[in-house]
Amino acid sequence: MHAIRIYEPGLAEVLKYEEMPTPEPGPGEVRIRLRAAGVNHRDIWVRQGAFGGFATPKVPGSDGAGEIDALGPNVKGLNIGQRVVINPGVSCGHCRFCLAGEQPSCQGFQIFDGTYAQFAVVSVNNVVAMPSGLTFAEAASVGVPFITAEDFFMRSQALPGQTVLLWAANGGLGLAALQLAKRRGLRALAVVRSSFKQPERLRQYGADEILVWDGGEDLVAEVMTLTQQHGVDITIDSLGQSTFEQSLAATRRGGTIVSVGSTTGGLVSFELGRVFRRRQTILGAFLGSSAILPRILPLFARGELTPIIDHSYPLEQADQAHEHLESSGVFGKIILEI
Ligand SMILES: [Zn+2]
Repeated sequence: MHAIRIYEPGLAEVLKYEEMPTPEPGPGEVRIRLRAAGVNHRDIWVRQGAFGGFATPKVPGSDGAGEIDALGPNVKGLNIGQRVVINPGVSCGHCRFCLAGEQPSCQGFQIFDGTYAQFAVVSVNNVVAMPSGLTFAEAASVGVPFITAEDFFMRSQALPGQTVLLWAANGGLGLAALQLAKRRGLRALAVVRSSFKQPERLRQYGADEILVWDGGEDLVAEVMTLTQQHGVDITIDSLGQSTFEQSLAATRRGGTIVSVGSTTGGLVSFELGRVFRRRQTILGAFLGSSAILPRILPLFARGELTPIIDHSYPLEQADQAHEHLESSGVFGKIILEI
């Protein structure tokens, strides 16, 4: 089969399109003929070596959709040719966290890598039926961003009428969080950089206010004006170093700051009293329960949520897809068609 493989960490050029052996499914596994893969920021971190080295060449990609092409021994209830989506959380399946549906707290929890390929082998536990009415590209756009956003809204106990501040609102995660925030009846303050040229498009997905921020310190004052000097109830911060202190300052007393990435760097420093005296919660988010994807995929088929795809590339142009995502001017998801 053809796949994208990485031999060493680096820029997009380390993504090599090449021939490799087609994997065979073992007991309890299926092989999927992938038709589309979603490109996530996580794939860039994998490429850069943030999740370990490359003792063996690595196939990146956590989100994918396609058709079941082969069944391993002892697989029941799934059929060859069936359209499916990969549920990207991998966990032991039998510890107390897995049994409670809190897979990301499992000691063995990982996010699947391997969808930048014509075929992927996964456990039957990672297969979700693909609803009709969706294209493969649309189905592959949902996983990581929507599972992550749904999980952090559940855990932050967001209530209708509350206000959420969304950094990087135009990206895949940002637009997932925006759509899910509106379903929960939240008021959304969406932040974009001035390099993003179509900020008004965010309004059609529910942004109540659009704020432009390019690294200065003036965003907190603007948020305070928009919240009668209280601050927001919840802040979603995927940027990290460049924004985290502002996230603390822009969030109200007793509010929640969701840390869900560090695309501008992972080291932050702040005075702890700013958190404990103001009774704030810092909530780490890393994917979510495996029950979420089967629950939300049908909402896309019914039109209650919208897959937002900025651009699709053929698999062999994965390097261009990564460069596009890194340009930070995207609106929604980048997809690889396979
Ligand atoms: Zn477990």
